[in-house]
Amino acid sequence: MSAGRYAPSPSGDLHLGNLRTALLAWLFAASTDRPLLLRYEDLDAGRTVPGSADRQRRDLEALGITFSGEVLHQSQRKEIYDDAVTHLSVQGLVYECFCTRREIQEADRAPHAPPGAYPGTCRNLSEDERARRRHQRPPALRLRVSEDAAGAHELSVRDQLLGQITGTVDDLVLVRNDGAAAYNLAVVVDDHLTGVDQAVRGDDLASSAPRQAYLRGLLYGPEAQQEVSYAHVPLVLNAEGKRLAKRDGAVTLEQLNSQGVTAEAVRDRLLLSLGLPPGPLDEVVKDFDPQALPSEPWIFDAGETSDAGGAYT
Ligand code: GLU
Repeated sequence: MSAGRYAPSPSGDLHLGNLRTALLAWLFAASTDRPLLLRYEDLDAGRTVPGSADRQRRDLEALGITFSGEVLHQSQRKEIYDDAVTHLSVQGLVYECFCTRREIQEADRAPHAPPGAYPGTCRNLSEDERARRRHQRPPALRLRVSEDAAGAHELSVRDQLLGQITGTVDDLVLVRNDGAAAYNLAVVVDDHLTGVDQAVRGDDLASSAPRQAYLRGLLYGPEAQQEVSYAHVPLVLNAEGKRLAKRDGAVTLEQLNSQGVTAEAVRDRLLLSLGLPPGPLDEVVKDFDPQALPSEPWIFDAGETSDAGGAYT
């Protein structure tokens, strides 16, 4: 099995940055004869906006980004994630963590610990202490990562655009304290079980790749650790150099359509921003060369679009 995937969170309409990443996911998959799967990352019920999954799909298809196979919704896959946690737990690789975000930020860390890494506070709590803390708040579940001689665990993965990504794997959260699977667990389980071996996503997620590879190796065997070929693609930034957001103006397909900009014009604009020729995707894919993609973020000035899409024609 071999497949690529696009995995949006249905928390609202996709903006140009999301659409550009999706377009690349489609091109990477099609140029390597992989089907592209669609998976909704809707584990965070509080962020899910009703109806946005369908709207996202409609916008993607309007640009020519089509999908194969069954569409997954992570919110419907709790038993599958629970099974994976059980598999780790019986090996003694899971522990309860009662820390608040603030406690983690303020904890003392070993001098070599990377910023933000979990400091290990709850790693070795006694049974009594755990029982006491369970009365205060429900625990999250963390992975007990094996430490190397330096007390950390480094891992590298290959990225088609960034080269080698090396990162420290810390005791990542597997299950949040509301009982929902955490992001890394759900991604690893879903990618593996659906045959995904190509992940194209924004480069803000590059640092997750070593963690995900580590977890994949634990769940599915050492050969699975490097089974995913990554391409972390540059983000779209606004005129201030910050990650593009909806508040940046006309950045969703619906907003642009309402200014008279057609879906084809948006597609072409995104293709041009990637140094690719405009046109239908099944034409563009014929000459698609990942190595020729720009390595810099695309600065998108939404002000440009205020002239009813002048920049699109
Ligand atoms: N859901 C993430 C996003 O919308 C993508 C996660 C992934 O591709 O691993 O940015």
